[in-house]
This record gives sequence, C-alpha cells and structure tokens, in this order.
Amino acid sequence: MQAWVVDTPGPVDAGPVRRVERPLPEPGSAQVRIRISCCGVCRTDLHLAEGDLPPHRPNVTPGHEVVGIVDSLGTGASRFGVGERVGVAWLARTDGSCRYCRRGDENLCTSPLFTGWDVDGGYADACLVDERFAYRLPDALTDVEAAPLLCAGIIGYRALRCADVPPGGRLGIYGFGGSAHLTAQVALAQGMRVHVFTRGAHNRALAEELGADSVGGATDPSPEPLDGAILFAPAGELVPVALRALDRGAALAVAGIWLSAIPALDYAAELFQERRLRSVTANTRRDGEEFLRLAERLGVRATTVRYPMAEAPRALADLAHGRFGGAAVLTN
Ligand SMILES: [Zn+2]
Ligand SMILES: [Zn+2]
Repeated sequence: MQAWVVDTPGPVDAGPVRRVERPLPEPGSAQVRIRISCCGVCRTDLHLAEGDLPPHRPNVTPGHEVVGIVDSLGTGASRFGVGERVGVAWLARTDGSCRYCRRGDENLCTSPLFTGWDVDGGYADACLVDERFAYRLPDALTDVEAAPLLCAGIIGYRALRCADVPPGGRLGIYGFGGSAHLTAQVALAQGMRVHVFTRGAHNRALAEELGADSVGGATDPSPEPLDGAILFAPAGELVPVALRALDRGAALAVAGIWLSAIPALDYAAELFQERRLRSVTANTRRDGEEFLRLAERLGVRATTVRYPMAEAPRALADLAHGRFGGAAVLTN
C-alpha cells in the first residue's frame, strides 16, 4: 500500500512529508484494519510536519480524522464486522489504569498513544485501530462530511464545554478554521450568540454564511462582553485580546495542542474579576460519542475542500497559507 510519512520535519514548503510503499499492516489482538476512504487534514498534522510538535516516532504516517471500511479483524476483535464503516480519531489508546483514566479523564492519561503521532494514521490506503477507540458514524453523513468531525468536531465540542457558556449566552470564537466552523454550528443551534474574530477572507465569509452574530478582525474588540470564548488560532498573542473581551467570571478555552508564546498578561485588565484561562487537552471517547450524536441531531455539516490522497503536501501547504475556508479532506 501507499502511505505518506513525516520524513524530516520542517517548513511545509520544503516538503517534510514523503510517500512510501509499505506492506499492508496485519491487525493484532483487538485491532481492526481499515481500508481508508478519506482522511481529514488537521492543523496538528501541520504542527507535526513542521516540527512544532516533536516526533514520537520516525516516519510516522500522519492523519487522525480517518473514515473507512473494516476489512480485516484481529484476534478477539468483535465490536465491528467486516464491511462496516468506522471512524478513527486522535486518541488511539490509553492505559485505562492511571489515576486520570480511573477517574474518567482519559484525555489526561499519562501514557496515551495518538493516531498519526505514535501510531500510523490515515494519510494512507489502510491503517489499524484498536476497536475500542474506533467510532460508528452517523448514517446521514458521507465519508467526506464525517472525517472533519473526528478531530476538528470533537475537540471543538470539548472546547465549547470548557468555555462554559450558559444557555443563550455570548460566545467569542478566535480563529475560524476547520474546528471553529463546526463548533459555531453547535453553539448557534443551542441558541448562543456567536461573535467571530478572524483574519482571512475565506474564514470571514464562512462565518457569515453560517450565521454568526458578528464577524470581525482577529484583534477587534468584541461588540459585547463574552460569557465564554475559545481560541482556535495557534496564536498566543490573541490570549490577552480574548481575555479582555470576557465578562466577569467567564472562561477562555485554548483549543489547540500547540500555541505560540503568550505575552505577559495584565492582571487587572485581563484576569481579575475571576476571568479564567484554560487549555483543552485531547478528548475522551465519551466526548466523541456525545459529539457525534449531537452533530447528527443538530445537522452539523462540515464545509470541505477535497484533495486526492496523492496531493497531501498541497493540502498541508494550503492549510498553512490559509488558502481555503472550512476543512480539507484527502480522498482515496
Ligand atoms: Zn491512563
Ligand atoms: Zn486534530
């Protein structure tokens, strides 16, 4: 089979990913093999390709928004049948035994494995997954529509909960790419007022199309105080901007796995009055199941741009340079 691997991490335009020929992997105990139909392109893939995140394994295949058909079962695998459609997401495995797993916070597991970082992901013809960490997908969604929900959607949903906005409250969204445009749909469907702050004409147009209550530049002041905000852009300089927009007692959730340096904060203007700053780290399987059910019920739809799997480097470069709105999906 063919698979992309992160060869030498570096600037995306220097070609850090390479396509290689590999034997079709055989599923081990409790694993299933998936014939990949498509795989979403997440910003985390770009951070790995560019070396913002340290490699966990040389020549790993990136991609953790994988949709495909089960085509082989390992010993003891019984949750899915051959021919069934499944999704593979970021969390590839947890130990199930550390104190965080035991209290239900498996997103904080001390020895987790991640798809496309520790284990080979979806920029390929096939991949393996521990069946306990795969998802059934809503029938109403096509493969391409479903792929971005698996990371962009799930992480955005967790970030929305971390932002702790009351029903009907005012949510600020900083940065408006793949994850934000799904999260905004959930927030709007739940009756929140949504204010979007972003650069890039594609992103602003998409926010308007989805019905955001206001759409401004990345550092514009908010038209009203916010009951919660999510920072999706990997831009630490926006942390004080977003904190200043918060109402008393409100929280800013930073959704990304990587963030550039945060400037010194002004305690009185940016944190006092019990404003909160918190990160969002991965997700639990429960977050994933909840979000997929909610996405089906609320009719959340990803705006997607398709690229043939053979053009993965172009998709990553277009993401880096903000050349599209919504989410890129690689198709086999
Ligand atoms: Zn654990
Ligand atoms: Zn991701």
